[in-house]
Amino acid sequence: MNIIFLGAPGAGKGTQADNVSTELNIPSISTGVMLREAVADKTVMGLKAKEYMDKGALVPDDVVISIIKERLVKPDCKNGFILDGFPRTVPQAEYLEKSGVVIDLVIDIDVPDEKIIERMSGRRVCPDCGASYHVVYKPSKKGDMCDKCGKGKLIVRNDDKPEVVLSRLQTYHEQTKPLKDFYAKKGILKTVIGQEEVADTTNLTFEVIKNFKNS
Ligand code: AMP
Repeated sequence: MNIIFLGAPGAGKGTQADNVSTELNIPSISTGVMLREAVADKTVMGLKAKEYMDKGALVPDDVVISIIKERLVKPDCKNGFILDGFPRTVPQAEYLEKSGVVIDLVIDIDVPDEKIIERMSGRRVCPDCGASYHVVYKPSKKGDMCDKCGKGKLIVRNDDKPEVVLSRLQTYHEQTKPLKDFYAKKGILKTVIGQEEVADTTNLTFEVIKNFKNS
């Protein structure tokens, strides 16, 4: 089963994508995580991407498309995959379609902007393994250390700083929201209203997947 998670930055797509990945035993692929790895490794592509990411802008389509193209041919994708943060523009969605990638279900996690701003101010990430936490909603069991890899000291992402968050939300409304129409027209879009409790959003997400499987 091939699933896309849509939603504003900070809506909780990554968390839901990881939950579904564990449940269905298919990889969760985040272009944001892959780009941050490239930035940390200071590759040519990473250095180019950083300029856009630090401003809250989208990295050019050709760069992210080349990353996703290499990733989707890996053997672990053969039984299905989850895309978290890709596509983010209509040309990226058209790329998937043109290359024959069949998408079964698109889940849009819907959260109002005010809530997003509140959530992103509390988000922390591990610079070593990329795991994501929230000081209130999803704290690390080890305080400000990562409880997934046990090595990293959690930090605020550059692009989670308030002025960048506003610019990312604007980018989302202008460039990513049109994807909802793109997939709604294909009849594969389902909306999950993001709940106060992560577990409640997870239950709603699993319900959507169960209904799809039974349909
Ligand atoms: P994320 O972790 O998904 O919120 O992504 C962090 C940043 O990486 C975004 O604000 C963009 O600058 C960049 N990015 C991630 N995925 C994409 C994409 N599909 N297209 C363009 N830029 C992306």
